Amino acid sequence: MARVHILGAGTPTPTPERFGSAFAVDIGGEQLMFDCGPAATWKLVKAGLKPTDIDYLFFTHHHFDHDVDYPCFLLCRWDQSVGREHELQVYGPTLTETITRRILGEGGAFEHDWKARVGHPLSQRVYVNRGGTLPRKPPSVRARDVGPGPVHASREWRVSAAPAEHVQPYLDSLAYRIDGAEGSIVFTGDTQPCDSVVELARGADMMLCMCWGDEDRIRAIGEAEGTCGTHGAARMAQEAGVKKLVLVHIGPELARHGPMEKGIGDVRRLYDGEIVFADELMSIRL
Ligand SMILES: [Zn+2]
Repeated sequence: MARVHILGAGTPTPTPERFGSAFAVDIGGEQLMFDCGPAATWKLVKAGLKPTDIDYLFFTHHHFDHDVDYPCFLLCRWDQSVGREHELQVYGPTLTETITRRILGEGGAFEHDWKARVGHPLSQRVYVNRGGTLPRKPPSVRARDVGPGPVHASREWRVSAAPAEHVQPYLDSLAYRIDGAEGSIVFTGDTQPCDSVVELARGADMMLCMCWGDEDRIRAIGEAEGTCGTHGAARMAQEAGVKKLVLVHIGPELARHGPMEKGIGDVRRLYDGEIVFADELMSIRL
């Protein structure tokens, strides 16, 4: 049965309970990751998964609360490998290829690290003791900038994308949908309520939707444009007819007791399906 591991259910504001966005999905015997926000690599391990288990990573957009752990994930996955793993495939909107090159490429921010590990006898010994065979290969990642439409299909699942409305024209944003024999899951990423995401989510078994805050509050303080609040998340889920709505990207105000219970009540009034207010390291079956 497919399941989603909630690694990051928060926002750019760090709190002890939530920080940034990151999710892992078990489907068809493979592991996929969506976004790679703060401490995603460490939280992945806390959830019982290994970086080397992940062969696919999808970015919704390139705000730091969704991608800042990417260098850590890339270096850790490569460092923990023994050279027989699949090449990591990374998909995301504009800048995905550029950011990858700036991390690992010649002259990239972490070139010094992997060159030292490839070249120094101590690092070579650690690699051989782990099961690797010399010479050690430099990290290699297949990163691709993608837009709306089909993104990747494997034997057991396929991923497609739709435009999300967030902070254009500064950054492109995508929502993703996975379909497989075990069911369908949608990640809205950061978006305001919009038809393209509703269409993508039509009839899905589960939708993980941004829920930035209490609708009245975010409207009153001018933070409703480019974001989804409680009403927006509920309305999109209801209109798309999704079976389970998982509220993520939860702002620190909404996460407090009081506002949380009111927010869940507001969502329940507008949406008929099952509601999950996501905690980090929660694992949700389809
Ligand atoms: Zn964002």
